Amino acid sequence: MDSYQYLIIGGGIAGVTAAETIREQNPDATIGIVTHEPYPLYSRVLLPTYLKRKIPREKLFLRTIDDFIESRIELRLQETVTSVDEKRREVTLHNGATLGYQKLLLASGGRARPWGKPEDESIIYRLQTIDDADRLFSALADVRNPLVIGSSFISLEFLEIFLINNIAPALLMRDEYFFMPYLEETGGELMRAHFQRHHITLYEHDEIAKIQHNQHGLTILTKKQQLIPCDALAVGIGIERNLEFARAANILRGDTGIRVNEFFETNQENIYAAGDIAEMMNPATGNWHATGNWTSAFLQGKHAGLNMAGARKPFADIPSYSITNLGLQITMIGDCLPMGDPPTADAIVRINPDTNEYERLFLADGALKGAVLINRFKDRAHITQLIKSQQKLDAYRDKLASFQFDITSIPMV
Ligand SMILES: Cc1cc2nc3c(=O)[nH]c(=O)nc-3n(C[C@H](O)[C@H](O)[C@H](O)COP(=O)(O)OP(=O)(O)OC[C@H]3O[C@@H](n4cnc5c(N)ncnc54)[C@H](O)[C@@H]3O)c2cc1C
Repeated sequence: MDSYQYLIIGGGIAGVTAAETIREQNPDATIGIVTHEPYPLYSRVLLPTYLKRKIPREKLFLRTIDDFIESRIELRLQETVTSVDEKRREVTLHNGATLGYQKLLLASGGRARPWGKPEDESIIYRLQTIDDADRLFSALADVRNPLVIGSSFISLEFLEIFLINNIAPALLMRDEYFFMPYLEETGGELMRAHFQRHHITLYEHDEIAKIQHNQHGLTILTKKQQLIPCDALAVGIGIERNLEFARAANILRGDTGIRVNEFFETNQENIYAAGDIAEMMNPATGNWHATGNWTSAFLQGKHAGLNMAGARKPFADIPSYSITNLGLQITMIGDCLPMGDPPTADAIVRINPDTNEYERLFLADGALKGAVLINRFKDRAHITQLIKSQQKLDAYRDKLASFQFDITSIPMV
């Protein structure tokens, strides 16, 4: 049986960063990475850029096999962990083999949430892996009228990918408007106008009832009895976490991932988790959530690696996600869900419809917990500091409601 001092499940940015950090701290340790995919580390963030034909495929790769050989990290490609035995300190692979560990990191991220029926699979596109991107890349020459499904960052990417490739997409969402409930109605209206400016046909507050295949492609029948002709379905409905293997090991899970403390320790001794799979408590709100962003996955991998190698460094981060899409810059920072009673009581909306600038600030107990910014990236750093400091903003509440008030003029205390 192969055995490692440090074994990592997942060869994404969190897992690879953790392995390399451990190597920096401990030149002699045995380190292994088991990863389901057949490639060394690549950038998921750049997959849309590749599909927009702005970079060639080879630019997606962030490491080569030789990099792992050089740093003496054993990269085990196309192997899948099916279970963890925390008592024996072993993991079992898909082929029945077992690997021993002294310390284990779960960095298994997520996969596109399942959607659709097996018979429709040939016309369904997702965007989580390089294989998904390659498949869509090949299809772009033939697809003419795709339907993007869902109200997510990946849906925005799909729309821009199609438009840049001179393909006219439509968008179908279950919600009343895009990014509901992160945005309220005026933000939803801003997004609606944005899509209309780009001639994207919108089907809001509706769902697919039936997919009919015919000689011209497909016809979608929606629950509201609308008929949508299309030839491909691009699904952006979020991810689900890869954590099945952790079930038998009694590793504590929350609603969104594997629960860890500020040192990335799970409830089981010598088992850590980091990246998209890890659910941490946001000290500003007390809410538990897994983040789904590249920078957090990198920083968490770094900290988890340091702590696994013997440091005792607590981690605190205000996660944020940014995208620039068809001319709109959208950023979400911290906890972006209404939390008052009623839920919208503690949210302030500032909007300038002439410039498509929009801010929704989420407060609780007088302090800022999160924010959605559209075309206001310049406020991001200050807002992040305000969330971090948890200073009371009661004195600014009325002023904040006016778009003219510059939030960066609030001094840090
Ligand atoms: C198209 C796209 C665009 C994105 N754009 C942005 C962006 O602009 N900004 C941003 O901040 N974030 C973005 N993200 C999110 C970001 O890429 C992720 O948050 C980040 O990659 C998570 O890294 P991770 O290492 O935690 O997990 P992952 O990258 O998901 O890596 C986990 C790895 O573990 C493997 N694995 C899973 N289960 C097992 C198992 N049982 N055994 C072995 N291996 C296993 C998986 O196959 C995978 O290779 C984007 C994501 C996608 C898909």
